[in-house]
Order: sequence, then structure tokens, then C-alpha cells
Amino acid sequence: MKKDKILEVRNLKKYFSLEKGKVLKAVDDVSFDIYKGETFGLVGESGCGKSTTGRTIIGLYDATEGEVSYSGKNVHTQTDKEKRSFYSKMQMIFQDPYASLNPRSTVREIIAEPMEAHGLYKDKIEQLERIYQLLEDVGLNRDHANRYPHEFSGGQRQRIGIARALALNPEFIIADEPISALDVSVQAQIVNLLKKLQKEKGLTFLFIAHDLSMVKHISNRIGVMYLGHIVELTESSDLYKKPLHPYSQALLSAIPIPDPDVEDERERMILKGEIPSAMNPPSGCVFRTRCPAAMDACATTVPKWHEAEKDHFVACHLYNKTIRKDTDEVAATK
Ligand code: SF4
Repeated sequence: MKKDKILEVRNLKKYFSLEKGKVLKAVDDVSFDIYKGETFGLVGESGCGKSTTGRTIIGLYDATEGEVSYSGKNVHTQTDKEKRSFYSKMQMIFQDPYASLNPRSTVREIIAEPMEAHGLYKDKIEQLERIYQLLEDVGLNRDHANRYPHEFSGGQRQRIGIARALALNPEFIIADEPISALDVSVQAQIVNLLKKLQKEKGLTFLFIAHDLSMVKHISNRIGVMYLGHIVELTESSDLYKKPLHPYSQALLSAIPIPDPDVEDERERMILKGEIPSAMNPPSGCVFRTRCPAAMDACATTVPKWHEAEKDHFVACHLYNKTIRKDTDEVAATK
């Protein structure tokens, strides 16, 4: 794949001010790039900040600090005219297709809405033809155009959400847990649809999910998030073959393997305890309160983000030779 950067996220922070001066650090210094035509998966447990990252990138939230550049332009300092053009290039698919579709509008009106907001298709017949085409692109048909969202199944409603996201011919789509609310049997159909559309339309995806098993089938690279931080980032195949961060190892060990013999034999890494509050994150490594490999240094020193293997980045002291050496020396004297 030719590596043209389309999105650059640098030191992005999104903090929410709460009552009594408390601050929730939902996204805390996150950096990554997304290349044209790829699918970048962002995974982690609920509350890790992955959806807030997506929403801050597209401008639904103002960033507290940091920069997001799309095709080389900072998206948060654009003029209104530039923002309109940016929003036509970057679209979002939401987790709950029912909540994101207006129940009083027909499918035709739902898909036409962004077209009208952006002044596309002055000719209504041309607009209708485009709506029919989009419905066919997502596996529905023109007869569905005059129906209402409640007349569809969850999977069909997500297809309508995808058709609406495609209405402005975007280049980049943020899919925020697009399959989490769907039955398992339907999840694979939606993932396959997204893959097909990516190929046909040359789309780039930021695919946000909590379930690593499905992300594997769609992502080229994956970033693993924990408590507002990206803790590991690499090619999808490398992450599945050799996860480095203890949190990624735990997430992967939770995925069932279809072979019952292998499943019975393998050791599960069960994470103890709840994810800590992002209002009061642990000192040092944010994962240390649940990490089975935590050492003394993990409580005092924030792990540095570094390339432990080629194109495989991790933030963990286990891969920091200096800290490992100090820890081993202390252990040897005990
Ligand atoms: Fe575990 Fe320490 Fe690595 Fe954090 S830095 S993941 S606590 S070993």
C-alpha cells in the first residue's frame, strides 16, 4: 500500500470540566497517523476514550490541546468555508443506527438531508437517482426509499446510516462502534459491506470498536487505547501474532478460539479490577493497577512511547532496557 498520510493526530487531548473543579481526561496526549485507503482500528474497553478521540477529530468536540491535520490542514483552525468542505470529505457512522436516524423522516429524506445542507443536486430527479444508487450500494433497494426507520431491522438501519454517510461522496469515514449494537450474525455482513465500499470508493476508515475479534477482519493497523492513552500501535497481523503490551495481551486472550481443543488448552489472561476513573488516573503507567507484570517503576514513571520492533510501537517499561536493567538489579539484591 502506498503510504500517503491523510490524517495526522498530534498530542491530542480532550478534557471535560465537571462539577467542583474536577476534570475528566477522556483523551490524554494521543498521536497517530492514518494513511490513505487504509482502515485504522482503535480499540479498547468502554470508557477508554476511543469514541471521544473520533468525535474530537471530526470536530464534534473542541480539542483541549493538540492538533488534527487532514490532508495537511489543521482541521480545528479552519475558516467556515474550509470546514464545510472538510465535513463533506469526512463523515461519521454511529453506533446506534436507530438513535441516529430521525424516526419521522423517510429513508429518502434522511439521505437527502446532507445533500441539501451542502447544496448538492438542485435537480430533484438527479438527487433521487443518487439516493437510489446509494441504497443499492449498501445492499438495500429503491423500494426502501419511502419507508421509515422503524420498518427496518438493526442491520438494515445501519445500512441506511452508511448510505447517509456516503451521500456527500466522502473520502474518510469515522465508524464509531458501527456493529456493537447488532446481532453477531449481522456484524460480519456490515463489516463485509464496509470492506466492499472501501474497495469500490477508495475510502479511508477510522474504525472504533471494543471487540478485537471483528476489528481484525477489517483493520490494516490497530491502536489499542486504555484510559485516554494509546498503549500499542502496529499492523493488525503483528498485534494478533505478537501483542507486546500486557493490556493488548489480555484483550486478545479474551477472544474465543473456534477450535475447542485449542480453546481448552490455552491460558486466559483475566484482568482484575475495574478500569480506573479518568478523573483520577493512576500515577506512572495508567494500566498499572490491573497489570500482572507491574514493577515499582510503573508507579513512578510514565512509560515512553517507542518502537519496540519495526513499525510496532508500545508504551510499557517491559520494553525499556534501562528500566528493566534497574528492576532486575533491585530484584537480584532482595
Ligand atoms: Fe504493566 Fe508496567 Fe508495562 Fe504498565 S509499564 S503495562 S504497569 S509492565
